[in-house]
Amino acid sequence: MNAEILCVGTELLLGEIVNTNAAYLARELAGIGINCYYQTVVGDNPDRLAAALDTALGRADIVITTGGLGPTGDDLTKEIVAAYAGRDLEVHQPSVDHITRIFAASGRPISDNNWKQALMPVGAVVFANDRGTANGLALDIPAVTPDDNTSSTGTSSDSSSKTVILLPGPPREMTAMTQQSVLPFLAAKAQHTLVSHTVRFFGIGESQLESDIPTDLLTSANPTLALYAGEGEVRVRVTASAASADDADRLTQPAIAALKNQFSGKVYGIDVANLETALVQALTAAKLTVATAESCTGGLIASRITSVPGSSDVFGYGLTT
Ligand code: ATP
Ligand code: MG
Repeated sequence: MNAEILCVGTELLLGEIVNTNAAYLARELAGIGINCYYQTVVGDNPDRLAAALDTALGRADIVITTGGLGPTGDDLTKEIVAAYAGRDLEVHQPSVDHITRIFAASGRPISDNNWKQALMPVGAVVFANDRGTANGLALDIPAVTPDDNTSSTGTSSDSSSKTVILLPGPPREMTAMTQQSVLPFLAAKAQHTLVSHTVRFFGIGESQLESDIPTDLLTSANPTLALYAGEGEVRVRVTASAASADDADRLTQPAIAALKNQFSGKVYGIDVANLETALVQALTAAKLTVATAESCTGGLIASRITSVPGSSDVFGYGLTT
């Protein structure tokens, strides 16, 4: 299964905003082992959007769009995709309820064009948006081969069909929807279960880590490794896909063991929330307590440790001087 990312927005073409959505989606797809061979950007223009969609569906199994799900006239991604697929748009009652709730909570009046966001192509799988009014969706489009032009409409989801996934443009909405709905949808589509574990490193930089991890492990297809640099630490997410969760988990274990072995002393935890949680767990296990004395940090270290539930058993006292 391979994918193409199709970002819609004239602002992107003009360089007014940076295409962080494409970078994010590319990383997430790589993390679940879906190859992405093309990224495309197209403006808010119906003909060029339809042409870009046609090209993308000609070379990818899954096309993921971002942008153009808003309420205004220049937001046309859903309309173009529905027309391309030969599907009508119908009122989707859960989306009506969702929009009604958001406006009621904000006290703002709903204008007529807002209801556009509650229209969904017939047969779509709708993805909830926890952070905005625009729900996303996935729509299967049966592949039309030169000998078979009888299946251009309908709701079949046979293995030869292509899928278009439409996500909102605002990154905070798009990323949340990807985590909650899109990644599980894609895993289910591939009839795979995904299992991820996060190995956390301290005291080594991202580029050093990347060059030290053996190439065959770094570029392995299943499990895949994805590196993320954070505040003072680096995370490596190890993700495997298999028919069952147990099988997928088994596939991740040799990679995790190899990382622990090669970087012993730098790996501070697996699937642990953060450094302070790992510290509290280690102190609890060893029946030890800790005290802090801080000047420049003004209590920040004590604050981080005591933010962990259960830390009162291991945190003796802290001095700020
Ligand atoms: P809206 O309801 O805000 O109109 P939308 O789904 O129609 O949402 P757009 O209008 O295309 O999305 O974009 C809305 C905003 O989201 C943009 O102004 C920009 O700030 C951000 N955005 C859109 N696309 C991207 C992208 N590819 N990368 C980063 N940010 C983006
Ligand atoms: Mg918009």
